[in-house]
Amino acid sequence: IDTVSTADLIAWIRKFRDAVQEHRDELTALDSAIGDADHGSNMARGLDAVVAKLDPPPSSAPDLFKVVGMTLVSSVGGASGPLYGTFFLRMGPVLTGEMDAAALGAALRAGAEGVVARGRAEPGDKTMIDAQMPALSAWDDAVTAGKGVAEAAAAAATAAAAGRDDTEPLVARKGRASYLGERSAGHIDPGAASSALLFRALSDALAARG
Ligand code: ADP
Ligand code: MG
Ligand code: MG
Repeated sequence: IDTVSTADLIAWIRKFRDAVQEHRDELTALDSAIGDADHGSNMARGLDAVVAKLDPPPSSAPDLFKVVGMTLVSSVGGASGPLYGTFFLRMGPVLTGEMDAAALGAALRAGAEGVVARGRAEPGDKTMIDAQMPALSAWDDAVTAGKGVAEAAAAAATAAAAGRDDTEPLVARKGRASYLGERSAGHIDPGAASSALLFRALSDALAARG
């Protein structure tokens, strides 16, 4: 059976940090158009704090996601810290058994549902969930088709990127960008862009497994 290890998930978090660092200025530029120009620095600071806590490596997925979530909540001041923190805090408790594609998909769904519960955004409100929800649908479709974790993650990454791009014409209804009303249209949502990086990092981490 095709499963992931705790080490694979740690590799994901490290790759997410690296991707956010690489795209930090882009994320901040997106946030300067419809927010307060700090999304890149918020995420980079939070994920640097997370990576600093991964040595020695957590010994289980629940332990990993607890430290990731708590560190993001406590080290990122913006909306994104508590929201991404909740995502990871909700993932951990789901991953106590075998981590196959179905289990990992269920954990990711629990994470995204946590973001919705905390932020009350609906699909189409121009937020990070507009990248996350299509990724989860693609993941579930891959599982239904009998695909393994790497293929499910690749499909999810592609769908998340499309969801990110689809936020461009939307009018924001949650978060700071909503203060702009109609003027928020015509720009990609920064949180959707970072969530596309989240799923791309997972796909890259699972594709690189030995
Ligand atoms: P802040 O807006 O506090 O400066 P960031 O710039 O780090 O925080 O993050 C902004 C991103 O957070 C937005 O682009 C959006 O994707 C996400 N966001 C904001 N509010 C919500 C919400 N209620 N639900 C889901 N995502 C949200
Ligand atoms: Mg901001
Ligand atoms: Mg801010």
